[in-house]
Amino acid sequence: MEEQKTEGQRLAEKLTFEIKSRWETIGENDRDAIVAFAEQYKRFIDKGKTEREFNAECLSILKEQGFMDIEAALLEGRRLKAGDKVYQNNRGKSLVFAIVGRVSIKEGVNIVGAHIDSPRIDLKTNPLYEDGGFAIFDTHYYGGIKHYQWTTIPLAMHGVVFNKNGEKQTVRIGEDEDDPVFVITDLLPHLAQDQMQKKANEFVRGEELDVLAGSEPFKDEKVKEKVKLTILNALNQKYGVTEENFASAEIEFVPAHKARDVGLDRSLIGAYGHDDRCCAYAAFRATLECAEASERGGIPEKTVVCLLTDKEEIGSMGNTGAQSRLFENFIAYLCSQTLDRYSDIDLRLALNRSAMLSTDVNAAYDPNFGDVFDKKTASYCGKGLALSKYTGVRGKVGGSDANAEFLQKVQSILDRHGVRWQFGNLGKVDKGGGGTIAQHAANLGVDTLDCGIPVLSMHSPFEVISKIDLWTAYRGYAAFLKDA
Ligand code: MN
Ligand code: MN
Repeated sequence: MEEQKTEGQRLAEKLTFEIKSRWETIGENDRDAIVAFAEQYKRFIDKGKTEREFNAECLSILKEQGFMDIEAALLEGRRLKAGDKVYQNNRGKSLVFAIVGRVSIKEGVNIVGAHIDSPRIDLKTNPLYEDGGFAIFDTHYYGGIKHYQWTTIPLAMHGVVFNKNGEKQTVRIGEDEDDPVFVITDLLPHLAQDQMQKKANEFVRGEELDVLAGSEPFKDEKVKEKVKLTILNALNQKYGVTEENFASAEIEFVPAHKARDVGLDRSLIGAYGHDDRCCAYAAFRATLECAEASERGGIPEKTVVCLLTDKEEIGSMGNTGAQSRLFENFIAYLCSQTLDRYSDIDLRLALNRSAMLSTDVNAAYDPNFGDVFDKKTASYCGKGLALSKYTGVRGKVGGSDANAEFLQKVQSILDRHGVRWQFGNLGKVDKGGGGTIAQHAANLGVDTLDCGIPVLSMHSPFEVISKIDLWTAYRGYAAFLKDA
């Protein structure tokens, strides 16, 4: 027989609030769906390890599903109607796509927005040199990394380079089992007496993150840098490039490992680039779900938009980043192709009445470093979708602080759809901080909330997320697109 609850117990139940592990709230069938979704995600991010590759993977699916190029439609003067599916591929590095809704764009649009770039090691523009019998690639790191984490792990070489004839060559070395990989060396402990006394940010300096490219000399006494020539020759045979072509190339070194299950219960996923491709993937799939529903006659009420941007890890600048006019232009295109007459004031109206989830990852509570987190407001792996009312550093500086009204609206949508949410504040006050693309959309007048997946070891070569948080994000984003 159940014990009678005391008055205090009943009152506590009514008035207090506890966030449980999401795993405790699901049935066996749910678990199968969660695991299947995680498998699809793992395969997807193994193929999309750079912003270009992730963009290309998404784009090929969009084309398969009948999305059309909005700029082509614009140039042909083609009008758009409810249910039409359009995309804008921005220089192969950022992507925005939409399903036109039933009501006028002047009612605003519902947006999920993520970034698809991740911290990594970029090649310099004149990178190859020879020292100590090695050919070495000189690099410049991209994004906020702890330098030392990128040494002594297998790296793969991804990117694009133009050959002598101006033809674009796609580089991808180190992903197949029998491909060679690359590595940044580190000092042996025996000689690291001085190194070990240094602060972590000087332990391995940015300029010391150079990548081993090879060691076999070209057999010709007359040649000065023989190993360098071997490597240039190999690159020339494979891609038709010469040393000069590196001046325009975009080559990124990323961890060569694949996404793997973590833990005996396989509840977690370890991979490179969860930040922010786990949210990008969940947002992408949620938007595709709207497209599928639309095909079956369930055209969304408001236009739904998915925004996948580049350059977030270096401040969202440039014409592929969220500070550019990419998103604004896309909404302008939609206005021009769906309204009787285009006017700037209609565009402003549409932006000001729009709502966005800035779908970026959050710092998961890490028991190894518990003291930097405020346990009451931290996000936890396995507890669902993390809502961050604000970001920023020190006194919330530089953060986008969502309005209470909008936060309440999002929470009630999630509650209505049975999507579990949790808090997501980045650490204790004055312990650090960060930002996302939220502010850039918010500055256009869009109601914006940061809302993402908790990650362990963020910005490291092997970040960890929970499968159930990935799933919950996907369900949450779909609910928002439909109902916001
Ligand atoms: Mn991020
Ligand atoms: Mn980041």
